[in-house]
Amino acid sequence: MSEQQRVAIVTGAARGIGAAVAKRLAADGNAVAVLDLDEATCAETVEAITSAGGRALAVGCDVSKSGQVSAAVERVVAELGAPTILVNNAGVLRDNLLFKMSEDDWDTVMQVHLRGSFLMSKACQAHMVEAGYGRIVFLSSTSALGNRGQANYASAKAGLQGLAKTLAFELGKFGITSNAIAPGFIETDMTAATAARVGMDFEEFKKFNAEKTAVNRTGKPEDIAAAASYFCGEEAGFVSGQVLYVAGGPKN
Ligand code: NAP
Repeated sequence: MSEQQRVAIVTGAARGIGAAVAKRLAADGNAVAVLDLDEATCAETVEAITSAGGRALAVGCDVSKSGQVSAAVERVVAELGAPTILVNNAGVLRDNLLFKMSEDDWDTVMQVHLRGSFLMSKACQAHMVEAGYGRIVFLSSTSALGNRGQANYASAKAGLQGLAKTLAFELGKFGITSNAIAPGFIETDMTAATAARVGMDFEEFKKFNAEKTAVNRTGKPEDIAAAASYFCGEEAGFVSGQVLYVAGGPKN
């Protein structure tokens, strides 16, 4: 382990995009806290990192609960070191057309995406300010531009772009950058669940979405991990407050 090894926290890293980001940041040389709702579900990602020679820690935490967030960040500090990289990736869907969307559907999505990213960023920024260095990345979405059946999710994902830009202003002078990645269609359990909800076979659903995408394919979690790796790298220190659409085209 080099003395310069940085500590990263990736939320929602048990599976999907978060797992790919965690593995990529570990391959880049960072120690990685693999955080998700249930600590046990993080085992696979942690094992993949450690068996490749990296350092990782499984952390159970609901990012929408302030007490759990403080405890999780304290645990990372104690067991891995002070975090200077944070990828706010944890997310949920509660899709429905507005007239059928419950208050609970609205609140749950706001709590996990917006409140969760706010709490995690607030808890980690103290360590970044102290280090005079930090990288914060938010997972937005092409849905931020509007998407039928996603009034809650689209609002939260647009909100995260505002949060990313605001933290860029507030934290820049401490050597901290803040950026957002807005993925298009990525093959994960989340998009598989959407296929099931609209009554389509996942393979058919992927084909349908690939045909609407400029590069004629759907995305893989590794496509997003590559963008996160760039934003989290030392060389990207002059890139802040940006939203990078990683969608195989302008929008899909
Ligand atoms: P996913 O496969 O559903 O994984 C999301 C992870 O977040 C799960 O492990 C989930 O845990 C965890 N999580 C949910 N609520 C949490 C909470 N309160 N605290 C901590 N962890 C929590 O989703 P994904 O497709 O990889 O998406 C990752 C991120 O990218 C999300 O923010 C999503 O909105 C965004 N995104 C995805 C796509 C796409 O096409 N897939 C496109 C644009 C943006 P459980 O398994 O225990 O629920």
